[in-house]
Amino acid sequence: TATPEVDLATRARADGVRFILAMFVDLTGKPCAKLVPIEAVDELVTDGVGFAGYAVGAIGQQPSDPDLIAMPDAASYTPLPWVKEGLALVHCDPHVEGVPWHYAPRVILKSLLERAVSRRLELFAGAEIEYFLVNRGPDGALALADPRDVAPRPCYDARGLTRMYDHLTEVSTAMNALGWSNYANDHEDANGQFEQNFAYADALTTADRVITARYLISVLAERRGMTATYMPKPFADRTGSGLHLHLSLWHDGTPLFPAADAAAPFGLSDVARRFLAGVLEHAPALQAVLAPTVNSYKRTGATSTRSGASWAPRKATYGGNDRTHYVRIPDHHRVELRGGDGSANPYLAMTVALAAGLDGIERALDPGTPGAAAAGEPARPDLPPTLLHAVEALGADPVVAAGLDAAGPGVSEYFAALKREEFFEWHATVSPWEHDHYLTTF
Ligand code: GLU
Ligand code: MG
Ligand code: MG
Repeated sequence: TATPEVDLATRARADGVRFILAMFVDLTGKPCAKLVPIEAVDELVTDGVGFAGYAVGAIGQQPSDPDLIAMPDAASYTPLPWVKEGLALVHCDPHVEGVPWHYAPRVILKSLLERAVSRRLELFAGAEIEYFLVNRGPDGALALADPRDVAPRPCYDARGLTRMYDHLTEVSTAMNALGWSNYANDHEDANGQFEQNFAYADALTTADRVITARYLISVLAERRGMTATYMPKPFADRTGSGLHLHLSLWHDGTPLFPAADAAAPFGLSDVARRFLAGVLEHAPALQAVLAPTVNSYKRTGATSTRSGASWAPRKATYGGNDRTHYVRIPDHHRVELRGGDGSANPYLAMTVALAAGLDGIERALDPGTPGAAAAGEPARPDLPPTLLHAVEALGADPVVAAGLDAAGPGVSEYFAALKREEFFEWHATVSPWEHDHYLTTF
């Protein structure tokens, strides 16, 4: 019988693939790749492909460290003829000296998923990709790719959607040909903002697809002279871009979230309620990973925008079909975690959400009443107002930290140090706001 490795080479040859992008991401979600010609596919499969880890970025390596060897996961093989004829992509697991590298996000997620499986739990996930199509003017200022997209209430705007028809349908066609089941494409709530959805799958597959989708959308947009950005809040007065995660646990093909008892609140099982409670309890620390940039906190902190609402949560609350909560329960099959944004690394986001949910299950936590706390209940935590607050919450939350350390120690501390440094680097800049407020005040 053919091993999956043999399968990658066989499938690529059968598809007429000429080059394979061997890809992985660092902790920030930055995609890195080498382009491997089909003539070298057998070496790719058996030996992987080498990278200088320090040059990659945030992946826990120093210049003197041995190479990262990216080993392809054949199950993630994705032909991408829409990008280039004869191109395919494969997601890889970085190894160091023969061992899966515990700072690699895909390795981390796989480790925690394996631990869940040992408890007879499989995580399934859907992810919603929101993004802006922009350009930079000659002065560097950010502008919408289509300056006609100025409707005051642009959500679902049929004309705005139609203006981007060629781009959106090119992406949709690719997603469907890949078997992702793209089911909707819309103009989102902000001018210049769009969303493209595909069906849920097992968590690893969905995380891979988020990375592939961001890459695909960006490359196709660039070809049309536009920049696709997943930056959480490109415009202060417009709604930001989320990465909502729809999460559910299964066992052996059976979904565990719908309750057997039709009268259960929101139709959720005890497992689902406990998972939800874990996510809510750990929300402040989760945000360090779900909303990992200084810009993220301009999305979740926003009270309103031009169109009247930001649709991004500010407190760790849950509710039914209500988009203002941290966790929405659209139906009894899943919970929608709305705290994440376009700068989130999907592997790490799923890792920490699962760590929090598993803790809720283990401790049989109760999510309490939906919405604001009822009399006698503890107040719902505020989400961290800045990246620094989130990093501090992560440092104080051993459960979420242990999630990041699922494949080996040190990752959580390293991640927190990087993010603290990012915060202070940003904080050291002097902004136009400061000139406006202080230049002639004193
Ligand atoms: N763009 C909103 C966010 O930042 C979400 C809008 C929606 O519910 O689709 O999360
Ligand atoms: Mg949306
Ligand atoms: Mg959503």
